[in-house]
Amino acid sequence: MLRVAIIGGGQLARMLALDGLRLGVKFSFLVEPDESTQCIEGLGDKLVWDFADLAEDDVDAFAELYQALHRPQVITVEKEAVPVPVLRGLARFAEVRPNPESVYQTQHRAREKQLLSRLSIPTANFIVAYEVADVRAAYEAFGLPLFIKAVESGYDGKNQWQLHAPSDLEQFERECPPGPWVVEQHVKFDREVSLIGARSANGETVFYPITENLHRQGILIRSLAPAPNLSEAMQNNARDYMTRLFNELDYVGVLAMECFVRGDELLVNELAPRVHNSGHWTMNAGICSQFENHLRAILGWPLGCTEISGHKGMVNILGSRDLQNPRPRQPGEAWLSSAGTFHWYNKTDRPGRKLGHINVCGDDLAELQNTLVELDELLYGEQRK
Ligand code: AMP
Repeated sequence: MLRVAIIGGGQLARMLALDGLRLGVKFSFLVEPDESTQCIEGLGDKLVWDFADLAEDDVDAFAELYQALHRPQVITVEKEAVPVPVLRGLARFAEVRPNPESVYQTQHRAREKQLLSRLSIPTANFIVAYEVADVRAAYEAFGLPLFIKAVESGYDGKNQWQLHAPSDLEQFERECPPGPWVVEQHVKFDREVSLIGARSANGETVFYPITENLHRQGILIRSLAPAPNLSEAMQNNARDYMTRLFNELDYVGVLAMECFVRGDELLVNELAPRVHNSGHWTMNAGICSQFENHLRAILGWPLGCTEISGHKGMVNILGSRDLQNPRPRQPGEAWLSSAGTFHWYNKTDRPGRKLGHINVCGDDLAELQNTLVELDELLYGEQRK
């Protein structure tokens, strides 16, 4: 029996397992004691283990951990914040895909930006700041606004600061949160897009159509694929950048690349060594989903179809942010009766938390765009302003 172990127990692990069970794969989930595991209940064997501080050379501990995971053939991740020594320790016993080096490079914003620069892949202008004096140097070089991002533990806009006025810089200098940071020049982008691709253990690659994404307060709200009016040249550039990354990292699995579009330029903002929220529409697009392709890739199987007909979209269901008037989200509210396929992750409601999503499909672009806006209004109403 094929068994895959997933490090992490969130919604991405859930959706990987839901697709994998259909393929006859069994799952073990490795989670830390403080991690919430509502998403993966009933989908496989859950192992709660305090693994974060294991030393890479503690062979006996990893042997025990590997046994406790029921000896999977392949181990993968649903998040990038996994200690790399743990991945390296487990790699003695099973294939770890993507490989520990790929996770190492992409879990840290400075290493990631430096990797992109080394491969001549365009990004926002940036410097790596080790102390606040370096942030001031970036301010003098780039002007305002500035984005400051902690190199680790930053997702959905967390551990990020936007400086719009000189007084914001002074406040940052006074508060001096833990660094180092990547300091980026503000990009006046026209829109944000992402490319999701997969490379199999046998070297085969596939790419999904590029997706246009709308974020609010750093969190993805809705996606539309294919991104309308994106030139062939830009699509080719995006695929070329990802191919460079695949080759450089000897990457296996799904990789996500988030980009800014500015005129006819594509600037890469962020990489994720895993399945990605902006690829959730692939679940109901009549093709092989990003989750299935990730599993096929790490198992060394042929990859599935990524070519779509018509237009696809997704709207995230986030926990209510309206703290004055909290309205816990429940399956069964009005948006459930709207067009589309509803996905619910079985989590408890918290402001801004990703609780589920709705996928929609259509032949007419304008109609699908309207549906996405309507769903956004239904879910977020006044909070959209
Ligand atoms: P990140 O955590 O890097 O994905 O950033 C979250 C969101 O903040 C992005 O999706 C953009 O909307 C915005 N953002 C991040 N960096 C920049 C930048 N250098 N210029 C303009 N907007 C940015």
